[in-house]
Amino acid sequence: MTIGTFSYPSPTNEPIVQYGPGTPEKAALKKRISELKHSPVDIPMFIGGECIFTDKRIAINPPFEKNFFLGQFNEGEEQHVHQAVDAALAAKEGWENISWENRAHIFLKAADLLATKYRYHIVGTTMLGQGKNVYQAEIDAACEFIDFIRFNVHYLSEIYKQQPLSSPGMHNRVEWRPLEGFVLAVSPFNFTAIGGNLAASAALCGNVVVWKPAYTQIYSANIIMQVFKEAGLPDGVINLIYVDGPILGKVCFSHPDFAGVHFTGSTNVFNTMWQTIGQNISKFKSYPRIVGETGGKDFVMIHKSANVDVAVTALIRGAFEFQGQKCSAASRAYLPSNLSAAIKSKLIETLATLKMGTVEDFTNFVNAVIDERAFDKIVGFIESARKDSSVKIIAGGNYDKSVGYFIEPTVIETSNPKYKTMCEEIFGPVLTIFTYDAEHFEETLNLVDTTSPYALTGAIIAQDRFAVELATNKLRNSAGNFYVNDKPTGAVVGQQPFGGARGSGTNDKAGSLINLYRWLSARTVKEVLVPATDYGYPFLGEV
Ligand code: NAD
Repeated sequence: MTIGTFSYPSPTNEPIVQYGPGTPEKAALKKRISELKHSPVDIPMFIGGECIFTDKRIAINPPFEKNFFLGQFNEGEEQHVHQAVDAALAAKEGWENISWENRAHIFLKAADLLATKYRYHIVGTTMLGQGKNVYQAEIDAACEFIDFIRFNVHYLSEIYKQQPLSSPGMHNRVEWRPLEGFVLAVSPFNFTAIGGNLAASAALCGNVVVWKPAYTQIYSANIIMQVFKEAGLPDGVINLIYVDGPILGKVCFSHPDFAGVHFTGSTNVFNTMWQTIGQNISKFKSYPRIVGETGGKDFVMIHKSANVDVAVTALIRGAFEFQGQKCSAASRAYLPSNLSAAIKSKLIETLATLKMGTVEDFTNFVNAVIDERAFDKIVGFIESARKDSSVKIIAGGNYDKSVGYFIEPTVIETSNPKYKTMCEEIFGPVLTIFTYDAEHFEETLNLVDTTSPYALTGAIIAQDRFAVELATNKLRNSAGNFYVNDKPTGAVVGQQPFGGARGSGTNDKAGSLINLYRWLSARTVKEVLVPATDYGYPFLGEV
């Protein structure tokens, strides 16, 4: 029974807790971190209404203190993927038929729980498990995640309002159906909010979901699942499993009810997924939705009119916050010859003031990279640069994995604009800079556009409005999120819808209407009020 059309007005962004010195918030968060460290967890998978424990337990260690035991998670096998898909499909009918306001209120309650009761829990687990400093964890695990949920409820209510015209004598309507089958959500390690949102956005639209996070994000994913459950999410709507990627793909990408994948992660993994889905296309009941936000090689283009302090701040925050482990991290910068010396010297001087260490010491700006695999890969780039006579390491370059995976913020200077660290995604605290002839700005914009296969984020730093205009136009397809006089990171839900094209993904803009459309399948219903009873049209009559 429809007894009203309910409204969900646009929310405001969740305020960022600053955790300043002496604040009760800081004391409460520190207390929660200490409690977390003193209570190791045994994290199950969540399939249907059950918590699944296995005999394959994998330890969870903070990246900055690799021998400390935070707990363990229970790894699954192929049978668990089948169970998760079955549980999702079993929950489907009930979930897609429940009223919109009940679906919305489960997630709005989850957002409120994250903003209050679970705030320090979600921020603390993100700090300890993923090695984010307090500010990075707060803007991700609390603010962005809460915003994703609240804004998506508003956006979906706007989509539901979109209805076609009706001519006299008939009524037309569009039903925004969930997809037939189940949605697979596969999330990366670097954002707690992304993990939760990949699953929740599809579920909000009435879909049932199998969610597999990166192993290095399970410590905070477990809290997300607890919050969803406490908010009243019915069993089986989101099933959280920890299995190896290829095993997951083997089951899901050949299942007839596979309806779509909501992925964020590296370009190579997404390409492999797309290939497998393509090869199996005749096995599915519907054409699956393939949504992926992938890698980046994000640029900062500095014009000769730039303010040096603005440029250096954009580089430091853009390249080194969360150790450069953001898909949007600035990793290649183009310095104009007139300002190059000043920017470099200010950059080196400022980098020397950044403290590196554990997340528990709030004075550290830089922490450890996520794990040994990432550490070794990033160090490989640094060592290869050290051996190459065409490039020079002008800041950082040291690293140590004896206690945690620490790599100093590193700046590589190259005279070759196509040097590999100008083109390839490193995903660590490494920025490569190239100085161009300040009088060849336009040619250098072409270079920026053609240097890497990615097109995620980028920034122009300039005071000259003609330079801003030229860069904005010439770099139109070089980035899905383009910044003027700012760092290329830190997109906010509702303000800068996020995503890139080319090798950076399908650009379906997480936290926007565009993304939600991908989890909906419209059905148009035309109803004629007084139907025709004679096949004849007027043109058939001849006098
Ligand atoms: P990743 O590609 O290694 O892993 C992402 C997820 O895919 C994980 O859950 C992983 O277990 C899973 N996976 C790996 N191989 C698989 C396979 N064969 N089949 C199915 N699943 C598989 O990425 P990561 O290291 O966790 O995250 C870093 C990457 O994510 C970077 O490339 C970064 O640019 C990208 N990223 C992009 C965005 C964006 O919005 N564009 C946001 C965050 C991260």
